[in-house]
Amino acid sequence: MSSLLEILSTVADPEIPVLSIVDLGIVRAVQADRVTLTPTYTGCPATLAIEAAVRAALDQAGHQAVAICTVLDPPWTSDWISLAGREKLRAYGIAPPVSRGMPACPLCGAAQTEEVSRFGSTPCKALWRCLACAEPFDLFKCH
Ligand SMILES: [Zn+2]
Repeated sequence: MSSLLEILSTVADPEIPVLSIVDLGIVRAVQADRVTLTPTYTGCPATLAIEAAVRAALDQAGHQAVAICTVLDPPWTSDWISLAGREKLRAYGIAPPVSRGMPACPLCGAAQTEEVSRFGSTPCKALWRCLACAEPFDLFKCH
């Protein structure tokens, strides 16, 4: 039987399918009888989908007895995205979150970028544009 963490690493984020919920850093604790999740932010429509996907993955692997707990405090921060997760975001064409300043263009790496819209293709992303290669890209938003 796969370990709980292995099962959780197969659950993809519904909005960014290249990222697993483990990459995203929302899996806070894994114990024999429970897994603890912290949603990326409350109000994100992906939150319920993630919980349902975790439930389905656990059930499928024979872990019906494992409970899913949700902890909101401390709140999730984009700092919890793993290094591997940041690389996957960049490879997918999404700028990993930055705590301050401008995100670098995930396509050409240029530092000169500008925000086009606070709202990208989903509520968790903002639309940015690179001033060097003129390509638009999504920025994973910080909360
Ligand atoms: Zn660029």
